[in-house]
Amino acid sequence: MKFSFRTIEPWPGVQAEDWSSWTWQFRNGLTKAEDFARVFTLSDSEREAFTRGTGFQVRSTPYYAALADHTDLEDPVRRMIVPRAEELAPQGQQISDPLGERKHSPRERVIHRYPDRVLFLVTDQCSLYCRYCLRKHFTGQEQAFVGSKDYEAALNYLRSATGVREVILSGGDPMTLSDGRLERVLFDLRALEHIEIIRIGTRMPVVCPMRVSEETVKMLRRFKPVYLMTHFNHPRELSADAAVALERFVDHGIPSFNQMVLLNGINNHAAIVQALSRRLLFLRVKPYYMFQCDPSEGSEHFRTSVDQSLAIQRELWGRLSGLAMPNLSLDVPGGGGKVGLVPNFETQHENGERTYSGWDGVEGVYTNPTSTVEPENLEPYLSEWNELKSQNYGKG
Ligand SMILES: *Cc1c(COP(=O)(O)O)cnc(C)c1O
Ligand code: SF4
Repeated sequence: MKFSFRTIEPWPGVQAEDWSSWTWQFRNGLTKAEDFARVFTLSDSEREAFTRGTGFQVRSTPYYAALADHTDLEDPVRRMIVPRAEELAPQGQQISDPLGERKHSPRERVIHRYPDRVLFLVTDQCSLYCRYCLRKHFTGQEQAFVGSKDYEAALNYLRSATGVREVILSGGDPMTLSDGRLERVLFDLRALEHIEIIRIGTRMPVVCPMRVSEETVKMLRRFKPVYLMTHFNHPRELSADAAVALERFVDHGIPSFNQMVLLNGINNHAAIVQALSRRLLFLRVKPYYMFQCDPSEGSEHFRTSVDQSLAIQRELWGRLSGLAMPNLSLDVPGGGGKVGLVPNFETQHENGERTYSGWDGVEGVYTNPTSTVEPENLEPYLSEWNELKSQNYGKG
């Protein structure tokens, strides 16, 4: 079965040429109640959020707003961009920096939480502000591209941190930067001998697929290996334009992955996760993570319970191709890093004998062998491993 991806028409009165220009989309972002009221009939709760002010920037591209069914108050796309009164009511767990990133930041804009990989927040801007954003304390403060002093300091840090093998460009959204800026960053990172992998974390293929031009992708390709980490949450976001953007990355040799967030009333059902995952896989994008929504301020109404998330993963297990299966994961509040949430298939464990019940309920026993040995000839690999284990990555 092939999937059909919807074509999104420009708003009435907008020239096709403007609509397909990413800078037009960026400049004509919806930010105020009046802008949204032109597209949606705002509910009382949505109006109240605009009137009282949410403390976290509101913004959408016209393209993304056009993905919504404008008559449906609970439309998933609408819920991700239009603030509601619930956002202002402090309820449940509310943490300003849920991932404890401030305390794992050895330099401005650098987050070093794992031995071999580092986040570099090159900009705080996004072309759209997701209402559940985990980095509300940083994102959308209009500081834009990292200033030259902080940029040099971040590069110097990366230069001296020789144990770092991966740099993850994040933000904000790195693809809100011009090609020239991005190229400069990639060029500077590639000048560092020890950096093996560069990831670009961006929602642009979702919220502004016109950003992904042939020239941009060819530029990225020159700095290979560059990986795309994107963020689709719902099959409705996979338009024909989004599909073209994703295929463009993959066609140019950029391995592509998706990180979704489970969101209450938006995508928290196995049917939605499977639909999104199969379509992404068809476009050669590997579903990578399915995150538990972080308890950032004003996100209570977006969060699912861990039990429900686990039940969704359990239902998908075995039914969905392993290639399409995202890993359910939770960031330990306060900065513990990610932990995997895996359904428990073990039903008994006694004296080296473990009983498992498989995805559709077939049981079996795995008996451990009586003894095991370490592989010989570890020599070529041990120094690399010991180096990784001894990394200082700015704990606490
Ligand atoms: C998620 C994250 C990473 C990347 O983790 P992977 O499991 O390798 O995808 C790196 N650094 C920080 C601070 C993160 O939050
Ligand atoms: S794209 Fe990412 S950083 Fe930007 S608002 Fe959405 S979740 Fe936050």
